[in-house]
Amino acid sequence: MSPQLRSAIDVAAGGKTRAVIYLRISQDRAGAHLGVDRQREDCEALAERNGWHVVETYIDNDISAYSGKKRPGYRQMLADLDQGAATVVVAWHTDRLHRSPTELEEYIDLSERRGVNTHTCQAGPIDLSTPSGRMTARILGAVARHESEHKGERVARARRQKALRGEFMGGIRPFGWGLPTGEKRTKVDRKTGNEVEVDELDMLKAVPEEAEALRYWTDEILSGGSVRGLVRWCHDKGVTTSRGNPMTHTDMRDMLMRARNAGIAVYRGEEVGRGQWEPIVDESKYRAVVAILTDPGRKTTPGATPKWLGSLLFRCGRGECPHFVYVTQSGGRSYPSYRCQTGHGGGRRSEVVDQYVEDVIVERLSRDDAHDLLLASAGDVDVSGLQAEAEQIRRRMKDLGGLFGAGQLELAPFTEGMDTARAQLEGVTQQLARAATRDPLVDLVGAPDVRKAWKALGLERQRNVLRALVEVTLKTPRQGRMPDGGYFDYDAVVFQWKRGQDA
Ligand SMILES: [Zn+2]
Repeated sequence: MSPQLRSAIDVAAGGKTRAVIYLRISQDRAGAHLGVDRQREDCEALAERNGWHVVETYIDNDISAYSGKKRPGYRQMLADLDQGAATVVVAWHTDRLHRSPTELEEYIDLSERRGVNTHTCQAGPIDLSTPSGRMTARILGAVARHESEHKGERVARARRQKALRGEFMGGIRPFGWGLPTGEKRTKVDRKTGNEVEVDELDMLKAVPEEAEALRYWTDEILSGGSVRGLVRWCHDKGVTTSRGNPMTHTDMRDMLMRARNAGIAVYRGEEVGRGQWEPIVDESKYRAVVAILTDPGRKTTPGATPKWLGSLLFRCGRGECPHFVYVTQSGGRSYPSYRCQTGHGGGRRSEVVDQYVEDVIVERLSRDDAHDLLLASAGDVDVSGLQAEAEQIRRRMKDLGGLFGAGQLELAPFTEGMDTARAQLEGVTQQLARAATRDPLVDLVGAPDVRKAWKALGLERQRNVLRALVEVTLKTPRQGRMPDGGYFDYDAVVFQWKRGQDA
């Protein structure tokens, strides 16, 4: 209790009933932004009419009523009341006092204990000492809560509409979006507090060079590139985030998986429909990228970039050993060599093996019939049909949710229906992903200089070609000098083709 309040109580000692006023500024009553001055006037008039002596007025300012923010004024009032500061609380409406059933029960408890009466300008006296008074208070609380939730619903609906229209909902400009309209507007700089002039942006329009980058990155991921590789690419090219910061792994991942890029509107992390803007990337490619980047089997151990073509890709093969080999320089060797994970047998010199595998692949892909190695193109897949199917399944899931929410569907058939739909959706998404994934061989087959094209791929994509095309096994090599005069047994490197007539 503050000293001022204590002296106010002493002044009131003349036998007048002591009252406190509680005011709250909020926007939770639809349409009525009731100013604090108006509330105060009404409350003071009520106290005056009843001949009460107002010893303290508490004010809280919480604009979003049910957001659960702390109300220091309210807490102080309860503490003072608990010490006997007053026996009457005056408020404009009960919804100014309590924001939740829990708060109301606490208030009822205190009122009973300290003999506090509550009067509101709108609903008159509420006698919390009687069951019917308490019921009235509870009902009023429930009504206020309903109104607030209803408003929340309206706001959510409006925001969903905004999402569909592609309107910018504040925050950081998403990479790829927001072409300057040529107009300017002023805004307050958060750091300095000064007004600054900024370009007005049309968030429905793609920024051409950024859109180009997004398409390139998408294709890179679809042909086996890594997020890490793309981040490096950004650093090399000086491409930054929309705020001008160096691109991070998370930035890149988020950008690639942003549904907006594919023309899909998202609200609260849920797809809400087709947005009203031109997509930057095809939906099928976008879905494929999401499928790839969220695949739990995808290895993304940072810093573990392989340095060799065959580490963990070539098989051991000594005595039919099925394990993969890795590269090591241990055991006093002067050069890195492929060794079985199980550690048995000697290693094979990595540089020589890699060079040989490269030679064989380049030779195979340079042959006249190399085109036979390519997979059927994505054009054979009915992408739009698959997309329509996916949309239908999503609608079905939404319908099921609606039926269940309305109590027209039991839990068991609901979950069963959802599981089925989810499985169907997964199947369709996988097909879409397959349709969009680029065959890693397309950059090589038909290239005028296959070796040059191979070198240009970089190790990650070379390994992808390897995965798709051939399985290499390092069999037990013969000892001594080989027929070619050297000491490396090329015949012990065995190729098992996965595609073409050799397969
Ligand atoms: Zn082995």
